[in-house]
Amino acid sequence: MLDYEKAISVAEQKCADQGIRFTRRRKQVLAVLIKADAALSAYEIAELCDAEGDSKMPAMSVYRILELLENGNLIHRLELANKYVSCSHISCSHKHEQSQFLICDSCRHVEEIDLCSEAVDALRVAASAAGFNSISSQLEIKGWCGHCQPSRN
Ligand SMILES: [Zn+2]
Ligand SMILES: [Zn+2]
Ligand SMILES: [Zn+2]
Repeated sequence: MLDYEKAISVAEQKCADQGIRFTRRRKQVLAVLIKADAALSAYEIAELCDAEGDSKMPAMSVYRILELLENGNLIHRLELANKYVSCSHISCSHKHEQSQFLICDSCRHVEEIDLCSEAVDALRVAASAAGFNSISSQLEIKGWCGHCQPSRN
């Protein structure tokens, strides 16, 4: 889980660097995602924003804000689940690599991981042998996180 205060202040700085205005609503959407620490649909994000905001947020603005934050590498869209998750590297200063995602089937917690390029290449070779080209470079894998795993004994 990210340090919330730090993540928000670094995100604000990153937006400024990219010429993105960090408006109250944009900040609110990002805050909801960071606090949730799980994958949320646009609808769930809108509901959470409404619950703590003073005015209702139209679905269209939620989608626009999500797109903007995604382009700014502050959040990611899980394509298969069509859900959003805050980037676990918000507070980092290193260059953002292509991330792969592990999604907990039980609590929806998402881990962002780096796969070595050999593994990604191997996947591409296997896909192309099966006649698949331009495969998505973003993997989304379901499983059980460390908290949800039933203890093995
Ligand atoms: Zn990320
Ligand atoms: Zn990082
Ligand atoms: Zn879990």
